[in-house]
Amino acid sequence: MPELPEVETTRRGIEPHVARTTIREVIIRRHDLRQPVSPSLAETEGRRIKGVTRRAKYLLLAIADGSTILIHLGMSGSLRVAQPNDDWKKHDHVAITLGNGGQLRFHDPRRFGLVLHLTDTEPLDHPLLCKLGPEPLEEAFTPAFLKAACATRSAAIKSVIMDNQVVVGVGNIYAAEALFLAGIHPLTPADRLTLPRLRSLTDAIRAVLTDAIAAGGTTLRDFLRSDGSPGYFKQHLFVYDRAGQPCRRCATLIARTVSGQRATCWCPKCQPKMRNRSNVS
Ligand SMILES: [Zn+2]
Repeated sequence: MPELPEVETTRRGIEPHVARTTIREVIIRRHDLRQPVSPSLAETEGRRIKGVTRRAKYLLLAIADGSTILIHLGMSGSLRVAQPNDDWKKHDHVAITLGNGGQLRFHDPRRFGLVLHLTDTEPLDHPLLCKLGPEPLEEAFTPAFLKAACATRSAAIKSVIMDNQVVVGVGNIYAAEALFLAGIHPLTPADRLTLPRLRSLTDAIRAVLTDAIAAGGTTLRDFLRSDGSPGYFKQHLFVYDRAGQPCRRCATLIARTVSGQRATCWCPKCQPKMRNRSNVS
């Protein structure tokens, strides 16, 4: 599934090709994505794309008429810049032909993605966006903010940092990796973590996402040229999908459990379980 680094990598990849160009034609080959593709998308023909921004895992193409094209990659979606006469791939559902000769193609085998045209004034007030928590790489995501969010939650810290209303864009892979870097057991009740430990965790979340975006940047050309399938940079992972393999720091075998229908991996030595309140540090 594309996570925040893949979406940010996509944004950086398509931005130079689509910003400040005019939409020549909109081609909708399948409407039935997670929600139907907005019929009004065709009204953007002849309009200029001002720029491409990202909020959580949504990409927003700002159109000069004040409207916004909102794209989500869902479970399996990708965007690539092709040429209009390139062969269609089986799951290329939407294409936007650009005035500069390129064509932005939305590809999504499982069709959980979205391509919507928002004509209301403020896209961030849209129901899909208005309840989202802060961006993990922006200033609003502080240790104090995370402490306040955790204070009222006794759920496992891993599920709390994966809650989009707490902080956006921390998916299963990056949650597992950040908890490893912070030395926190993933099933620790959130309300038992102290401010210093949550400071380690906010730092780790930022570090993991920043590294993944940087790694995505190095594969950007391939990303656009090939089928656009996202890479998860597995060579850098400490715990995610490594159950039964030795920890890269201490050689203890990585443990695994299923929590909230998601596989969770951790190092029992680097991420010890908290036994009681007196152990909280
Ligand atoms: Zn370890």
